[in-house]
Amino acid sequence: MINVHKFKYLIVMAGIGSLLCAALGYLTYHQVGRHTTEKLTLKVNQLGQKLDAQLMRYSKLPEVLARDPRLLNPLLIDTAAVLPSESEVDQYQTTSELLEQWASILGADTIYLLNQSGTTLAASNWQQADSFVGHNYGYRPYFRDAIIGGKGQFFALGVRSNKRGYYFSSPVYHQSEIIGVLTIKVDLSLIEDIWQYEDLEYAIADPFGVIFYSSEPSWLYHALVPLTPQQKTQIFASRQYGNAPLTPLTAYRELATFQQNNINQMTLPAQDHQASFVVASRDMVQAGWTIYGFSPVNAAYRYVLLALLMFSLIYTLLCLAITSWWQTRSAQQALAQLNDRLEQLVIKRTNNLLESNQRLRDTVKQYELSQAELKQTQSELIQAAKLATLGELSASINHEINQPLAAMRTYSENSRKLLAKQRYEAVASNLDEIIHLNQTVADIIARFKVFARKAQGSETSNRTVVADAIRAATTLLHNKLIKEGIILRVSELPPDIRVNADAIQFEQVLVNLLHNAIQALAGRQQPQIGIQLQADRDWVEVRIWDNGPGMDAEQKQQIFTPFFTTKDDGLGLGLTVSHRIIDAFSGQLTVTDHPGGGAEFVITLPRSTEDSV
Ligand code: ADP
Repeated sequence: MINVHKFKYLIVMAGIGSLLCAALGYLTYHQVGRHTTEKLTLKVNQLGQKLDAQLMRYSKLPEVLARDPRLLNPLLIDTAAVLPSESEVDQYQTTSELLEQWASILGADTIYLLNQSGTTLAASNWQQADSFVGHNYGYRPYFRDAIIGGKGQFFALGVRSNKRGYYFSSPVYHQSEIIGVLTIKVDLSLIEDIWQYEDLEYAIADPFGVIFYSSEPSWLYHALVPLTPQQKTQIFASRQYGNAPLTPLTAYRELATFQQNNINQMTLPAQDHQASFVVASRDMVQAGWTIYGFSPVNAAYRYVLLALLMFSLIYTLLCLAITSWWQTRSAQQALAQLNDRLEQLVIKRTNNLLESNQRLRDTVKQYELSQAELKQTQSELIQAAKLATLGELSASINHEINQPLAAMRTYSENSRKLLAKQRYEAVASNLDEIIHLNQTVADIIARFKVFARKAQGSETSNRTVVADAIRAATTLLHNKLIKEGIILRVSELPPDIRVNADAIQFEQVLVNLLHNAIQALAGRQQPQIGIQLQADRDWVEVRIWDNGPGMDAEQKQQIFTPFFTTKDDGLGLGLTVSHRIIDAFSGQLTVTDHPGGGAEFVITLPRSTEDSV
């Protein structure tokens, strides 16, 4: 899915890029074209102006020099004599020397004097091999213009030197009559320094469109448009361009048409291949020439290419930057969304956790309540079991109390009789006995009252002297033991053995075990119950055995289970409660077979040291 998006994005960006490229290319091409044309026109104008200025320097010279009277002598001699004398020939030489001097001063190529028929009488190059002296130039337009009083200006290849030159001529007057022509030939190589424009081609063409000066050598002495036969004849007659064929460079029919297209592209031969050019031209009115500037179109292509390259680079960078920005933004958004989701999840989880925590707290509270209730129930159970034991002992208690009460009654009745006989001493003795018996009854009641008291939990002393507990338990059952004729065998009871257990609950366990033993011994011959107390450094062990019927394995497994009883009136709670009490004090209550037959219960409890609480 993402890839499809990316692909679409790439296509769109590439499409936009291509459109922009095309628009930019078009605009750049036109802009460069316009700029090139403007620049070209400007340069061509500059060139024209410079060229004009150069030509101006020479245009006036022939007129001024023609007035020099020293030129008249050779001309007059020429018109007068058929054959010049020696002195007259010297006169020609003197004039030639003068012309040589002028040419040197003015920087002209050649200055020469022609007679009325166009023959050179004197020339600055008179001493050179290609001297003009004696040669006739009557066919040259500059001569023909000047001899009829005009000012001749003419570009041509030198007939003798074959050097390109510009000819300025002026008539020489004698008494208002034209008797000759003075001509100055300027070597156009003098003006070559003005062509400093490397990035354009130029050409100078005469009024017929023949290029006689150009930065492109292959264009030289070619016409821009095809020449008419008359034009050709005229040019050949003046021998202006020697024998050059003057073939046309373009297919334009007329020069005017060519010039009208001068700011358009045109194809011209350039250095052995065809090339397109933007053209600009300027007419040089005085010289009668046209100067053309050509700028290769591929220069514009170069700019377009450069612009496109730069644009592509910038566009690519821009696209990359946008992509990167977009990706970063998308990533940030995704991250923010993820964060939000995460936060919501955390809030949800936290709420769940808080709820769970609350539920757990409620459960713990509930558990604590249940525990408290259980503890309460357990202590009530213990109490109930104790009261049940007391209930079972009630007959024995009754009997125990009845005995002293009966004795007290006997002593009272006796005392009444002794009082009648006024035997006061005996009465006093009886009363002592009654008081003693009363104390005995109070003691018995107090003992059961203490036993029946509800345990107070941790507030009661946890440092119970085991011997005291054993004594209290046996005392409670003393009467019953005697009644049943049971012999009680109690081992030595060291007073320093203590356990970390509640005294009353511990006593309750002992009473339970002893009472069960008494019940088990019912109807047995020579019934016996034994109590043994043993202790080492850490543990205290109390063994209570009897020589009753004992228990089989199954019974032994079940006796600590609630409500297990083999007795008709039994509750089956005594051993269960006893087991739990000992367990609560980190001890153990177990049952085993007594070696002499019968059952043996073993209580094991951690020993409480002197300094322990
Ligand atoms: P109950 O005395 O109400 O039956 P107990 O939990 O005290 O409940 O005793 C459970 C059972 O354990 C008794 O019913 C009896 O079968 C058996 N038992 C307990 N002590 C002895 C003993 N010393 N000799 C034989 N059986 C015993």
